[in-house]
Amino acid sequence: MSRAPLMPVEEALDQLLAMANEQPLVDSEMHSLDDAHGRVLASDLVATLDLPPWPNSAMDGYALNLADLHRQPLAVSQRVYAGLAPDALLPGSCARIFTGAPLPPGANCVEMQENVEVLEDGRVRFLQPLKVGQNIRAQGQENRAGDILLRAGKRLGPFELAVAAGQGVAQVHVVRRPRVALLSTGDELVEPGLPLRPGSIYNSNRVLLAHWLRELGCEVIDGGILPDRPAQTRLKLEQLQVGADLILTTGGVSAGDADCLGQVLRDNGKPLLWKLAIKPGKPLTVGHFGTVPVIGLPGNPTSALVTFGLLARPYLLRIQGVEDVMPLSFTVKAGFDWAKPGSRREYLRARLEAGAAVLYPNQSSGVLLGATWADGLVEIPENSTHTLGEPLRFIPFNELF
Ligand code: AMP
Ligand code: MG
Repeated sequence: MSRAPLMPVEEALDQLLAMANEQPLVDSEMHSLDDAHGRVLASDLVATLDLPPWPNSAMDGYALNLADLHRQPLAVSQRVYAGLAPDALLPGSCARIFTGAPLPPGANCVEMQENVEVLEDGRVRFLQPLKVGQNIRAQGQENRAGDILLRAGKRLGPFELAVAAGQGVAQVHVVRRPRVALLSTGDELVEPGLPLRPGSIYNSNRVLLAHWLRELGCEVIDGGILPDRPAQTRLKLEQLQVGADLILTTGGVSAGDADCLGQVLRDNGKPLLWKLAIKPGKPLTVGHFGTVPVIGLPGNPTSALVTFGLLARPYLLRIQGVEDVMPLSFTVKAGFDWAKPGSRREYLRARLEAGAAVLYPNQSSGVLLGATWADGLVEIPENSTHTLGEPLRFIPFNELF
């Protein structure tokens, strides 16, 4: 067996992103704000409105012109609620005003109701020093009509969709969904709900990845479970490549006899990478079958999780036009000693306790439960040892969705 050096994680990522840049999704479609969550903007969102569209009050209180202050107490000449169009302020008077209500023309200051005295005859005395512009939200303070609010390539979450709503936009222009054919390989696999056979286990990867793919805006084409047979594997890949932007598989990419997915890819397709300096996830295999990209994740659920999160996810975002595909990470203190250096970069399931990363006790790549216990992945660089309290990079799981 070849002892070629393992590919560093950064290099694998560069290759995947280069592959994504070569085959970006170009088609786009319009969707209502309700249906656009998790999708990627296909063209810039340009403001058609100043926001706020007119100066308005930031407080419940009284609007006045400061030039009239020497004439106080001031009579209240109108009441302006949010949703009303006010009259111009009568000289020598003030206006009762409520939060979000347009400022009457002629007013240049709002005083909050707590700082005024309302006399028995209804006139108002201002008790505190006042400044021009106080408690007024200026027209266009958030944005001006014509401003680019969101750039093409922005992922749309609640904040972005609310910004679009604030402009009165009901439909947004988004990149079409990547169509991902999802395939679970392994003779041992049985779908939940069916009886287990001797030696079989339930397929957990399909559920893990189908949900995760949808979170990333993908349409999932379920390719089911594939037995470990080269001929069937070839046939299945031929079927799945039709209409798919990506074939995503789990299992069958190590170097064992039954690992025929990787073998078929290497024999029939164009392998791009295989054997990474990553733990878990070393056998991650990337290539093409025909013209369709294939990402072959290792079968162990945590290997699939780590390689999908760190490598397949950036690929899937990039083909949708997202520029910044890397998860935010930050430095935490090691809540453990790491005495044995490894030749592969290791990602451990860890929880943050008082700013330190504490490890899930069982870091086996076959153990999925640790991911539900953990807050994210703590990264151990290649060939390094660490002692309690040393800084390490931490990637929160919620950054991977
Ligand atoms: P493989 O990468 O095919 O050698 O599989 C590695 C390990 O992951 C084996 O113990 C498999 O039984 C297990 N495995 C493979 N696919 C799945 C799956 N879809 N769900 C749960 N475990 C799996
Ligand atoms: Mg297998």
